[in-house]
Amino acid sequence: MRAMVTGAAGFIGSHLCEHLVSCGDEVIGIDAMTDFYEPARKRHNLDRLLGHDRFTFRQGDLLDLRLEPLFADSDAVYHLAGQPGVRGSWGGEFAVYLERNVLVTQRVLETARDTGLRRLVFASSSSVYGDAETYPTPETLRPRPVSPYGVTKLAAEQLCETYRTVFGVPTASLRLFSVYGPRQRPDMAFSRLVAAACTHRPFPLYGDGGQSRDFTYVGDVVTAMRETALSPWNGVANLGGGCEVTMNQVIALLGELTASVNVVSGPARPGDARRTAADIAVARDAFGYRPVTDIRTGLAAMVAAERASHRDESAGPSVAPALRGRRDLH
Ligand code: NAD
Repeated sequence: MRAMVTGAAGFIGSHLCEHLVSCGDEVIGIDAMTDFYEPARKRHNLDRLLGHDRFTFRQGDLLDLRLEPLFADSDAVYHLAGQPGVRGSWGGEFAVYLERNVLVTQRVLETARDTGLRRLVFASSSSVYGDAETYPTPETLRPRPVSPYGVTKLAAEQLCETYRTVFGVPTASLRLFSVYGPRQRPDMAFSRLVAAACTHRPFPLYGDGGQSRDFTYVGDVVTAMRETALSPWNGVANLGGGCEVTMNQVIALLGELTASVNVVSGPARPGDARRTAADIAVARDAFGYRPVTDIRTGLAAMVAAERASHRDESAGPSVAPALRGRRDLH
């Protein structure tokens, strides 16, 4: 397959590109290298891809790039570029969320329509549900986001549905539930937690730790994305890890894998749902989705990657540890 991946230098996008290349696909990766977190970290995400003969990287903003020739050469476009993060989406930053999540997606869809693209896989989010009324949550439940970020992801997803029903653009939107694994975004909880545990620094926990997530390992997510592209299925599906865990349980588990974690409690933040849990029956039936990585295995992979990065740092020039102060579970 010839694939295009938007957001290729990001956390999930870089894992997806590596997976596609390992499956024999030819991949064009696009990324604007936004400064939401340090671009050096994104360049590092591309380390295993740059120089590979089936991978090409184009740096640019999807609102500026000429997309038609890129789409015309692709069997599938995986649209992951966007502005993630629940907590940063309040206030004046909302314009950035609108631009990167909604306007960009509309431009991608217009191009897909004009070029007769055969497959478009969109990275939607569990944030569209907000505080759901039903757990595990099925796709049929009315979405009620509790953050502006969730609103923009829902708007983008609805645009996919609109272009699919009106113009026949073959879109598949996957609602990703708290994705984790090596190279996770530095604002996300697991990333901060693992870094704190490995360096014996305090970990600021927002809320009482009873908030739970259906954490999903990145390897399971990227495998499912390619399976989705290969299948004839269109629509909206949840991608959850199949196991709901509280932050307190994660902290205890990490204590077993490293040393005990020094938790500093703070108040809960607006925009965080109390609970997420995915009903994955649609994904299972549509393209055989079956998450295989349990939380202990996935967390251990993150710890191993974190320790390896510290060894690299002490051996030579470092990758900046990043952070612009925004912290998130999504
Ligand atoms: P990320 O920030 O690491 O990756 C997103 C990438 O998109 C970045 O590298 C950024 O530079 C790029 N980008 C943003 N705007 C762009 C533009 N206009 N043109 C070109 N590139 C642009 O985030 P991630 O965690 O890898 O998330 C990837 C996608 O998955 C996002 O759309 C996010 O909303 C969605 N998602 C993520 C999670 C999660 O748990 N990480 C959960 C649900 C949904």
